[in-house]
Amino acid sequence: MDDLVDELGALIADVKAALADHALRGARTEARDAALPEAVPVALDAADEAPADGAIAEDVAVEEEAPAAALWDRLADTSREAVRPLDPADGTGAEGLARIQADLGDCRRCGLCEGRTNVVFGVGDPDADLLVIGEGPGQQEDLKGEPFVGPAGQMLDRMLENVLGLRRDQVYIANVVKCRPPGNRNPAPEEAATCKPFLLRQVAAVRPRLVLVLGSVALREVLCLQGIKRSRGRETRLGGIPAIPTFHPAYLLRVPEDKRLAFDDLKLARARYDALGGRRG
Ligand code: SF4
Repeated sequence: MDDLVDELGALIADVKAALADHALRGARTEARDAALPEAVPVALDAADEAPADGAIAEDVAVEEEAPAAALWDRLADTSREAVRPLDPADGTGAEGLARIQADLGDCRRCGLCEGRTNVVFGVGDPDADLLVIGEGPGQQEDLKGEPFVGPAGQMLDRMLENVLGLRRDQVYIANVVKCRPPGNRNPAPEEAATCKPFLLRQVAAVRPRLVLVLGSVALREVLCLQGIKRSRGRETRLGGIPAIPTFHPAYLLRVPEDKRLAFDDLKLARARYDALGGRRG
């Protein structure tokens, strides 16, 4: 009897996972078919070089497949989050962001403050319809105090301009942590947990129509999902806002063969951005 119950439990879990996967893939295909431009120039592969600082090396690691039941639980948790919109308690737009930045100040709330040059708060249009979330500052970002300014930043600019049709100054860009982790390691969970409330306040202040989540660390910390290779290109929600995960640009510089997958994700993002009324120009 116990064996039968176990088998039935496993079967139900498999069916749930298959249904979830089917539904999400169907939604993605539908969105692509509905709103794709006739021809989107592909130029993600020009002048690509590995980042000098070797950032985001962990993105390359092969990720273990999660059990089907666990994947279903995570999807269910994410959809519950969708009915809990982010609260712009700081105010909106430039005013809200200024209030958050003032509160952050010369932050020493976690150990990452020890090795940083600058707190890298965020950059872009305070009222952007697209908000991009990365992992954390690298060497050049730390020196300049601005996210995504090195080779990975140039790659991000090409991704935005060539596929989404958006300039860097038309979107808002921020990271999970605002200080550079030493040696460009991944931020530790406790560091991310300390810094993340400021990011969520930024998201609430900007009020984007769509969020683009870059890489496995942002995926884990912002969307509570594991495995960028499994989760990429599947729309989910961040506080009620549609969110699409894809590879981090630094990873694409290291593994250029995955640019085609990223291109698919960005085409989906473009279609959703347009369908959600995102501004361009
Ligand atoms: S990473 Fe975030 S929480 Fe940690 S010191 Fe920097 S700004 Fe503060």
